[in-house]
Amino acid sequence: MSEKVLRTRVYLQRPREYGLSGCPQCGNADPEWSEFQKHCWCPTCQIDFEPTEDGVFGGPILMQMAALFGMFFDSLVLETGQVERYDFDSQDWVTETPEQYEISRDEKRKALHERWTAAMERTAAVKKPRETPAVSDTSGSHPDAVLAALSPVTIEKLVEDIGRDW
Ligand SMILES: [Zn+2]
Repeated sequence: MSEKVLRTRVYLQRPREYGLSGCPQCGNADPEWSEFQKHCWCPTCQIDFEPTEDGVFGGPILMQMAALFGMFFDSLVLETGQVERYDFDSQDWVTETPEQYEISRDEKRKALHERWTAAMERTAAVKKPRETPAVSDTSGSHPDAVLAALSPVTIEKLVEDIGRDW
């Protein structure tokens, strides 16, 4: 068991929404966040535990892609009571009061979801097998080119995202 470190912030979504596994004692699949980092809390068993599956935190995933599955990594900073939100326009973390966060959250998420749904649809269309050889239209027909044009995410940002603690 790793050393227990007190949590300084907590994600606004529940552990199970990120794919973390549930309580090893009673099987409760919807535990709370523990006061300790990398731990969850089972209110039934009254225990802190380390999930055996670390879900979305286990591998690289673009935050935009995670958002398509309904995951966000916005968190409450426990010391200040403010919210740390990932801003998809500036591609950086911004700190807001809970009131500001409520205002900005829904419209940002809606716009993000629409942008990425459109991107995926276009990519899927490009990847369809051609029934006839392409003749003249080569603009934007390569999947990588399409993604590069639509995605504001860089490799550096991806690496940074993986480093998010939980
Ligand atoms: Zn339990």
